[in-house]
Amino acid sequence: AKAAGGNRYELADDDSNARVIARHSLSNGLPSALENGEFFIEYQPLVRLADGTVRGAEALVRWLHPVHGVLGPDQFIPLAEDTGLIVPLGRWVLEQAARQARAWQDAPEGDAERLRVNVNLSPCQLSHPTLVSDTVAVLENAGLCPSALCLEVTENDLIGADEDALRPLRQLADLGVDIALDDFGTGYSNLSYLRRLPVSTLKLDRSFTRGMQRAPADPVDVKIVEGIVSLAHTLDLAVTVEGVETAVQAEHLRMLGCDTAQGWYYARPGPPERLHTLALADAS
Ligand code: C2E
Ligand code: CA
Ligand code: CA
Ligand code: CA
Repeated sequence: AKAAGGNRYELADDDSNARVIARHSLSNGLPSALENGEFFIEYQPLVRLADGTVRGAEALVRWLHPVHGVLGPDQFIPLAEDTGLIVPLGRWVLEQAARQARAWQDAPEGDAERLRVNVNLSPCQLSHPTLVSDTVAVLENAGLCPSALCLEVTENDLIGADEDALRPLRQLADLGVDIALDDFGTGYSNLSYLRRLPVSTLKLDRSFTRGMQRAPADPVDVKIVEGIVSLAHTLDLAVTVEGVETAVQAEHLRMLGCDTAQGWYYARPGPPERLHTLALADAS
């Protein structure tokens, strides 16, 4: 959309004109939004399929825009990437999430110590020179163990990355941070490439599990998930499935050997306190 600038917009219909203006006004408000405290984070539980226990949650950022109300990340993360704001914003999300995970772990009841937090990394953060030192500092300040943090990077952002580009992730992995390959299956990485990546989890894209929402499950989707789980486990990788919306789907994915699940069936993204209730409920 950026490349299509200039007078092409004059030819646009009202609807897409409005979108261009909205995009413009959003990017104007973006730099001050962080200072003004307009961002907040919702957490969506990650559930272990074998026993249904809550393992932790993924941090998902939202923008409470003074005019437009709550905006989802798809509406402003691309802008934040274009303007470079994603680096301070991403660092803020990491800080908040690490502190939140520490707070969950500090709960006196249950075995809350096992709770972990997942944070999304954008490509600008991946190539940023202070990624490793920032992350280490955030963990230390929060008093959070590296293994309680999982950084999610998308398959597409790693395609073509050479050893130099992968080094920061490898360093973080060596420190004990879990690295997950997000939206797995939507990119074009060849499978042998997986062995070279410092990842410990494949996060299977929602598109592969959609065909299992209701019985009978789509037989092709079943075969694909079966194949991916077997490949992942051969390579010692855990499999997380996204977009689990029904009980039928959850049971099917459990039987196929998937390790962890996330989706509306368990909970929509919500405030951090809610994770506590869910996690402690299953500990009792
Ligand atoms: P993602 O990492 O693939 O996150 C999962 C998305 O799926 C979330 O959308 C979540 O709300 C949605 N979802 C979860 N369960 C279900 C379900 O059962 N059914 C359906 N239909 N959807 C489900 P959300 O919150 O709108 O986030 C969109 C994307 O924005 C995320 O996709 C992630 O790539 C990005 N994002 C979110 N927070 C951050 C952040 O702090 N930094 C960066 N760089 N990206 C972020
Ligand atoms: Ca993610
Ligand atoms: Ca994903
Ligand atoms: Ca995604």
